Amino acid sequence: MFSRKRAISFLCAACMLCSLIIMALPAPVYGTGLSEQLEQARQEKEALENQIKAIRADKNKVLQQKKLLDQRNETLRNEVNLIQKQSDETQARIVDLTAKEEQQYALFCRQVRAEEERGTESYWSVIFKSADFADLLARLDFVSEVMDYDRKVIEDLQATRQQLTEDKAALERQKAELVSAQAELQKDIDEAAALVRDYEKSEAGHNAMLSQAKQDEERIQELIRQQQQSSGSSDGYIWPSNNSHLITDSYGWRICPFHGREYHNGIDIGARLGTDVLASSSGTVIQSGWNGGYGISVMISHPDGITTLYGHMSSTKVSVGQTVSKGQVIGACGSTGNSTGAHIHFTMYKGSSTVNPLDYLP
Ligand SMILES: [Zn+2]
Repeated sequence: MFSRKRAISFLCAACMLCSLIIMALPAPVYGTGLSEQLEQARQEKEALENQIKAIRADKNKVLQQKKLLDQRNETLRNEVNLIQKQSDETQARIVDLTAKEEQQYALFCRQVRAEEERGTESYWSVIFKSADFADLLARLDFVSEVMDYDRKVIEDLQATRQQLTEDKAALERQKAELVSAQAELQKDIDEAAALVRDYEKSEAGHNAMLSQAKQDEERIQELIRQQQQSSGSSDGYIWPSNNSHLITDSYGWRICPFHGREYHNGIDIGARLGTDVLASSSGTVIQSGWNGGYGISVMISHPDGITTLYGHMSSTKVSVGQTVSKGQVIGACGSTGNSTGAHIHFTMYKGSSTVNPLDYLP
């Protein structure tokens, strides 16, 4: 029996089905790039761990050990970010799939209602005898009257629900991974900080750190000489951190808890690990990356002849030669180099000597 009504309903369903098939096209294989990056980060970390083990035997190489620890922590931080990205992606997919599932389920209900109106006996029996949705799906398999397009609607709905279940499980896994990676990172950061603290306390450690500081300054002076440009005027200076103007250590002579009087050539700004570090003024990046006792640092040369240095960062986001504008994010706050806790070390050089940043900051 092939009535006109049936033909129209078939056409409608076919149209809906077309749109569904388009919706149901396979999603791009998901997370592949991220998984590969994650695997790479983990391998890097392992290689660094082996180097750390090798160097640990040699007590004189503490600073090198700290550098390696910092690098390992950087790869671990990278790992944490990748897992975070992966879990954000899964979360977004779950939102999409939930919407898709709602649409597919609505279509499924319309199909069932259409069949009800036509009084198809088997549909009635299936609906009334089913214990739950899964049972309903199982029973539908045996209904011979279910036409191909009905079957496709059901299959799509099943596939979506299956994917949704898998994604929700994946998300739980990723969240657990994230928590343990973050805990591992904190443990490693503490380990690196303790290393520097112990080292600083010893006579040999004190001397080694002083001599490194001297070498650092010589290298920095050379960089500044190469880039000497005092042709213009600056557009003013801002604090290198959005969230904090808290000075944990000020410019000038200070009494070091371990080795008496020493000169602090900048200010230390209290900031949390990972906080954005901002360019204090616009200029050109003349150094970016590992910088001795300053750990991962960035140096910016400004048109008025001032050079700013941002030290102990966990990562940099700029490269040498790049022009940056005032307030631009140039890196993230960390505790690399000779540092025992997350903070931003900020030095201002005017020519070859340092100046008190507080004379320039608002
Ligand atoms: Zn400092």
